[in-house]
Amino acid sequence: MSSVPSRDPDPGTAGIIGHVIGGRIRTKASRTLPVYDPATGEIAARVALASPAVVDHAVSAAKAAFPAWSATPALSRARVLFAFKQLLDEHRDDLAALITREHGKTLDDARGELTRGIEVVEFACGVPQLLKGQHSDSIGGGIDNFSLRQPLGVCVGITPFNFPAMVPMWMFPLAIACGNTFVLKPSERDPGASIRIAELLAEAGLPDGVFNVVQGDREAVEALLDHPDVASVSFVGSTPIAEHIHRRGTANGKRVQALGGAKNHLVVMPDADLDQAADALVGAGYGSAGERCMAISVAVAVGATADPLVEKLKQRIPQLKVGDGRKPGTDIGPLITAEHRERVLGYIEDGVSSGAELAIDGRGATVDGRERGFFLGPSLFDRVTPEMTIYREEIFGPVLSVVRVDSFADAVDLVNGHELGNGVACFTRDGGVAREFARRIEAGMVGINVAIPVPMAFHSFGGWKRSLFGAHHIYGEEGVRFYTRYKSVMQRWPDAASRGPEFTMPTHK
Ligand code: NAD
Repeated sequence: MSSVPSRDPDPGTAGIIGHVIGGRIRTKASRTLPVYDPATGEIAARVALASPAVVDHAVSAAKAAFPAWSATPALSRARVLFAFKQLLDEHRDDLAALITREHGKTLDDARGELTRGIEVVEFACGVPQLLKGQHSDSIGGGIDNFSLRQPLGVCVGITPFNFPAMVPMWMFPLAIACGNTFVLKPSERDPGASIRIAELLAEAGLPDGVFNVVQGDREAVEALLDHPDVASVSFVGSTPIAEHIHRRGTANGKRVQALGGAKNHLVVMPDADLDQAADALVGAGYGSAGERCMAISVAVAVGATADPLVEKLKQRIPQLKVGDGRKPGTDIGPLITAEHRERVLGYIEDGVSSGAELAIDGRGATVDGRERGFFLGPSLFDRVTPEMTIYREEIFGPVLSVVRVDSFADAVDLVNGHELGNGVACFTRDGGVAREFARRIEAGMVGINVAIPVPMAFHSFGGWKRSLFGAHHIYGEEGVRFYTRYKSVMQRWPDAASRGPEFTMPTHK
């Protein structure tokens, strides 16, 4: 029987964001971390950090819920998701406000994040169709052969700070639709949305223990990776951690998909609509303060495009409004923490000292009444070269680099030479160039005159090279394959003509 999670009665735990285990919120913790409102710089709450014992408790709750949930008809599981989708629509504004308070992104951007997450829930509502197997009638000797897709067991999701609702929704709707139970380990930097999601799932009728949340840091992650009852791990975050999760999880015999970091290029061809390209670069470079895995961080200017393109960027960037994401008209909110802001500042200093031209310096930006917020204005570097650290590494902040190249071939070589390959875009009016680009480029998601080509929920999301470790992209049909095991059944009924003992593999003869 499902229940809306209720607060743990432990005294002294008010203001603590806790775990959700077996339908109850647990706030007691020996270790906690502050969660900031990045626009004010104030501590908004504290988050509990799970110990291995708490992780074991959550995995056990998920394991206990698995037999009944996996035996529930797919249509009934889908109906819970239909109800959940309705609740998400009804609570879109309060969820967006929660995301903005802990993450800092604008309210519009937070609503957009929810929309893209809800689309995955909509896709998962079609699970009876998605799980249909194939059937071959009478393959010989009264035998039929058919296939099933069956759930794995306890699936884990470990998610980053930059999309606290959408990235978990890339994972758990399909996982539970397929009949698995789930343990989510959200980012410790903006964990509030995970609790609201658990509450809405319970209200939608999801049985206790099917969806659990453990808050925490590295200690909780390691306990999940080592837990013998965890069947699979879906991870989204930075490349070094993704690689570690993949190594350790697969060494422990788990199925793992680990999506890593990005350095997304946008190639501007000489025949492109330069205003369209400049607008796209500003939106994709600085939206969400550059804290998106599909943000464009490198503009590749081909041939004579560079000077006019940089001019257009210089006209547009100073018009962007940096401020509190709750305030209408804000384009760029704060960065997630003071430490991350320092890290991005370090990259800007590194770019200057390695000889890149700082065409626009966002370091001085201030926001009236929000002097302690983690703000940084948009910066633009021109004449960046491939050996510079600001070109090679993911900055994950409002910093756009322009690299100048001579030809289309040089642009393709540049993109393909980078170790990361998440998203990429090419702006051109030439269909032949666009086709060649889409075919030759080494990245998982390609945009032609589209700067942020995030695939729809009925396609699948993922990068190439060191942007993804594992065989499966996330959500869509790839997600169904990841969250299920394929089984082939060969069936003969006793009334089929007996051929006596058989000592060879069955064949059609
Ligand atoms: P992160 O790698 O620091 O953290 C991601 C998750 O891993 C969090 O839940 C965190 O608690 C956990 N974690 C952190 N350090 C760990 C450690 N040493 N051992 C075990 N677990 C650890 O990432 P972030 O800063 O939260 O998010 C930003 C990064 O995520 C960027 O690199 C961005 O490109 C990437 N990202 C990628 C995608 C994608 O689809 N490829 C999507 C969103 C974000």
